[in-house]
Amino acid sequence: MSAYFPTMGLEIHAELLTKSKVFCTCSAEFGGTPNSRCCPVCSGMPGTLPVLNRKAVEYIIKAGYVMNCEISRFTKWDRKNYFYPDLPKAYQISQMPRPVCLSGNVKINVNGEEKTIRINRIHLEEDAGKLVHDEVNRISLADYNRCGIPLIEIVTEPDFHSADEVIAFMEKVKLLLQYAGICDCKMEQGSIRCDVNISIAPKGSTELGTRTELKNLNSLKAIAKAIEVEIDRQEEILESGEHVIQETRRFNEALGETTAMRSKEDAHDYRYFPDPDIPPIIFTEEELEEIKNSIPELPEQRVERYVNSLGLKKADADIIVGDKKVCDFFDEAIAAYNNPKAVANYIVGELTRRINLGEADMENLKFTGADFARLVELLQTDKLSQSNTKVVLGKMIETGEKPDDIAQKEDLWIKEDNDLLAKTIDEIIANNPKPVEQYKNGDKKVFGFFMGQANKALKGLASPKAIQEYLTKKLEE
Ligand SMILES: [Zn+2]
Repeated sequence: MSAYFPTMGLEIHAELLTKSKVFCTCSAEFGGTPNSRCCPVCSGMPGTLPVLNRKAVEYIIKAGYVMNCEISRFTKWDRKNYFYPDLPKAYQISQMPRPVCLSGNVKINVNGEEKTIRINRIHLEEDAGKLVHDEVNRISLADYNRCGIPLIEIVTEPDFHSADEVIAFMEKVKLLLQYAGICDCKMEQGSIRCDVNISIAPKGSTELGTRTELKNLNSLKAIAKAIEVEIDRQEEILESGEHVIQETRRFNEALGETTAMRSKEDAHDYRYFPDPDIPPIIFTEEELEEIKNSIPELPEQRVERYVNSLGLKKADADIIVGDKKVCDFFDEAIAAYNNPKAVANYIVGELTRRINLGEADMENLKFTGADFARLVELLQTDKLSQSNTKVVLGKMIETGEKPDDIAQKEDLWIKEDNDLLAKTIDEIIANNPKPVEQYKNGDKKVFGFFMGQANKALKGLASPKAIQEYLTKKLEE
């Protein structure tokens, strides 16, 4: 057991899903040929004037509501000055004293326990460009496509005391932003990024230790690992009688270590001052009310609806809602075949199994929710056996063909050949006098044995229902 406990706070940057950038009409889509989505405004030409994107403001207000923040009735923008090639204007338009959102909170569940994480503030700013460092030719290239994409920065209070809490919070925030339609939260594309402020102190201490800031964390796995190694590093320093230096550290995932980036001494003085080009905004109650009412159904409400109105098990509803792609897929499926329980079962069971095995990928499914629903319907209505349903699903994942076409082409339909059914079951009964005896003496459990034998022999040729009926009739004779 360690003699120290960690305390952490987060700064999360999330790119908003607006069509255009925050101060110009350039496309805000991810990627693109370098510097193909730029104009004089976002490349910082002198004499240009920014125009604030209304949608971006709407989105940050939504973010504030889903994280239970107070929305400022008066908000304004500031210039954060720094000279670095990823920002051609040499200042970033951000918000310092009057952010759009203040003091919110988000509930998380960690190992069965609920905990509330306080949000200090959420403000709106513009993203910077991307630098590519070419080590071979010893040059740096600048891509300004990302420059000016609207970004919200969510700053939490130092309420975290374990990596599990941080991960649970990140997962919750990702879901909230995705369901609210504000951010796609693709960590691998950098549309949501997280910096962790971390310090440790002796157990029982009421004072916090000196903190470091971890940057460059681009996956949940990296966040968990970086926290773990940074706690170890700080413990070692304190144990040897030294002091932790307040600094920014970069996490190197390949080496599994954090290294110093810059110390507090050379921290930037950003010389914030009000941006004279963007007028402050005063929101009316009506405007805020309208935005609040336009927020779509959030994850918790959805789980509740699935359990209460559709009769799903809470655990299944949690799994489905836990991934927005899966959830949209489920909705599409039950719109095509109104049997939520059966559809949910097959998603949580068979489809999830194949996703976990890496056979299927929700991002690139070749079939629709409606196709999947049809497959479940074929199983439910005894057109396909359990095992052949799995075969058809495998083909659907591979080729994207319709379930009926696959079943037809591969001759997988249940034949309902009554003569064959009777002949097979009669044989099984004749070959197993002992279990028959047991059954007749009241040991009804052996029925499972006969079902198993019959299913195996009649694989895909008869429906379980038909087998069960005939078997019951024969055994009761
Ligand atoms: Zn532009």
